[in-house]
Amino acid sequence: MHWPKLSPETLRQTVFDALDKNLNYSSESILGLPGTFLDRKQFHDSDFLKEAAFLSVLVNNPNHIGCHTYTEGENYFSGTQKLEIDVLRICAEEIFGAEKSGYDGYVAPGGTEANIQAQWVYRNYFAKNHNAKPSEIAVIFSEDAHYSVYKGANLLGITPVSVKVNFDDRKILLEDLEQKLKELYDNGIRYLIIHLSMGTTMFGSADNSKAVLDVVKKHFTHYFVHVDAAFGGFIYPFSSDKRDLTFENPEISSVTIDGHKMLQSPYGTGVFLCRKGLIEYTQTEEASYVYGSDFTLCGSRSGANAIAMWMILMIHGSEGWSKLIQGLLDITNHLCNDLDEMGVKYYRNPSMNIVTIVSEDISENLAKKYHLVADNYQDPKWWKIVTMAHVNQEMIDNFLSDLKNERQSKIVNPELV
Ligand SMILES: *Cc1c(COP(=O)(O)O)cnc(C)c1O
Repeated sequence: MHWPKLSPETLRQTVFDALDKNLNYSSESILGLPGTFLDRKQFHDSDFLKEAAFLSVLVNNPNHIGCHTYTEGENYFSGTQKLEIDVLRICAEEIFGAEKSGYDGYVAPGGTEANIQAQWVYRNYFAKNHNAKPSEIAVIFSEDAHYSVYKGANLLGITPVSVKVNFDDRKILLEDLEQKLKELYDNGIRYLIIHLSMGTTMFGSADNSKAVLDVVKKHFTHYFVHVDAAFGGFIYPFSSDKRDLTFENPEISSVTIDGHKMLQSPYGTGVFLCRKGLIEYTQTEEASYVYGSDFTLCGSRSGANAIAMWMILMIHGSEGWSKLIQGLLDITNHLCNDLDEMGVKYYRNPSMNIVTIVSEDISENLAKKYHLVADNYQDPKWWKIVTMAHVNQEMIDNFLSDLKNERQSKIVNPELV
């Protein structure tokens, strides 16, 4: 895995050069394009914008509508679109091991859309190639999967099926998987979308693709595998040697990665990627006024989002990013060592920065003091800590010392807590 680190000056210059290659509302006669020229009373050119590359793109407001790995797209904004293509290349080829130009994708509004886009591609594939009715298609996932799978299934009229996991290690229960698959088959389901997670939101757990697919193959021949790496995509591939949830595994057809989680980019930076030959199934032929046609769910989208991701990737370079991730894992390791010493029960995937503590071992008051997130606020069984970039050792130490005190008073006076 390698991409270069650029100096702030080179970064700035590259972004301004890209903007220069876009259409310029100030210097050209643009009569037909409905692209939004931002309100000049509010957003006028200020001197400081010359220094601020990202803000300049935001104010220039290029539209990245369409899918630029597939077609050239609207040539009005080809400068900044090239940088989006570079973001997709880094995500697909460098981080997720895709073959050179062997994928299509786009910077989506978020992980939710990217997950829905994947279901949409596969539903249409099954409909077109197998004449499948929506009622014959199911999407199957672990109970720890992100709730956006339900949104997609609801919109697309396909059946969502949640598989139980083992409480302690969050692994998919293969007996439950097998039983659900049999029931689905008996109920007329013939086509499956298998939604696996690389880093679930609550636990950071990663599904074992082989274990799941071995069972699936006993019952179904038609399936596609989508990997939801919305949370894990910018950490797990840097911290784990396992590659079974990347494009290096021929079973994996598509991936969701969020920039606005671990990459620390602004909201609006989900990434959808799929192997070549699939995005065509969501081509909207009727989008005839969009040069290059449209394949995405969202339509118009700001080029500034792609630029934000590109700038973050390039200011760190692959080495810098790996180091940053290692720093977060070190803090997480330290936290886990102390929890072990205290005998606190928790779940943690060693390649992730999420530590999820069982609710018996921490009071709700303390969890709330540190803004831990519950699996379920009505009846919490788990509370999670995520060591993201804003978390430092001191915060962790304060938390640990409060937890220690709380546990000691519990031993002295069991009625107290
Ligand atoms: C956050 C998250 C999503 C949804 O992403 P949005 O960007 O909020 O739409 C999907 N899957 C996982 C695993 C997530 O953590």
